[in-house]
Amino acid sequence: MNEETRLLKAQNLTRFYDVSQGLFQPHAVVKALDGVSFSVAAGQTLAVVGESGCGKSTLARQVTMIERPTSGNLQFDGFDLVQATDQQLKDARQRVQMIFQNPFGSLNPRKKVGSIIGEPLVINTELSKAEREDRVRTIMGKVGLRPEHYERYPHMFSGGQRQRIAVARSLMLEPKLVVADEPVSALDVSVQAQVLNLLMDIQQEMNLAYLFISHDLSVVRHIADDVMVMYLGRVAEYGSSELIFQQPRHPYTQALLASTPHLKAQNRQKHITLKGEIPSPLAPPAGCVFHTRCPYANERCAVEIPAHLSLKDGRQIACHGVEEGRL
Ligand code: SF4
Repeated sequence: MNEETRLLKAQNLTRFYDVSQGLFQPHAVVKALDGVSFSVAAGQTLAVVGESGCGKSTLARQVTMIERPTSGNLQFDGFDLVQATDQQLKDARQRVQMIFQNPFGSLNPRKKVGSIIGEPLVINTELSKAEREDRVRTIMGKVGLRPEHYERYPHMFSGGQRQRIAVARSLMLEPKLVVADEPVSALDVSVQAQVLNLLMDIQQEMNLAYLFISHDLSVVRHIADDVMVMYLGRVAEYGSSELIFQQPRHPYTQALLASTPHLKAQNRQKHITLKGEIPSPLAPPAGCVFHTRCPYANERCAVEIPAHLSLKDGRQIACHGVEEGRL
């Protein structure tokens, strides 16, 4: 696809945090995002996958404009989010909405469902009460909530239904992009598929783009057009969903797939077992940040950061082993 037509484009995006290490100790810099580039087209889903601490949530905060990047380019809908004024960001925020992981914590227990879903209209539009109610009821129908749910409170709903309420609220301002941060990981497996199907139906109907964040590759299997695998703030591998699931090349992607029991064994090229914990972002390993856990690491991996290679099949990968032709 023509890069010009992409709704969201990030180039060399970085987000560093200064962290105090205590009195008389020098400040540390955490590179939560370090040179991340990707793009998402209207109506498409990019899944961002990795373990906790990989930079997924930091990425979500840049895209939803909660924070500004330290450097790099971030464009949304032809609009430069890095250079934008506060007022411009306020306007752009309406077109990017977010769904959170925890449907139990993200809904105000003292408000009725109709009022929760309609809240963005109260804050951002001049619509009358009757017009707001009309829009809320229309969206409730789209997400599979019944008319009588309008007057009920969140605690009267199951986890899956609460996530439907959160989805409805995210759609009220007709966004172009929804950032979904682990939207089904707090739900029972049996309910996860229902919510994922709902997200896909809505995507088709509204030509919505999703930035779908998950630690679990099996969850993004059916929803993602592209998958970006991240490790300690860097992109390990990025390509079409088909490539990533059928022919993962990066050892970390292979390890994540091997640790996902729901995915068919024939989809895995190599059975890598991920050993140990992800290192602290305060003291990331030198060279390839994955080298302390990678079974293919060599001396070069311990000292030299791998460049991002663009392979002929369209994926991008950061691995000396691939560059050297040994993986
Ligand atoms: Fe493993 Fe080296 Fe590739 Fe990093 S660069 S993933 S350590 S082989």
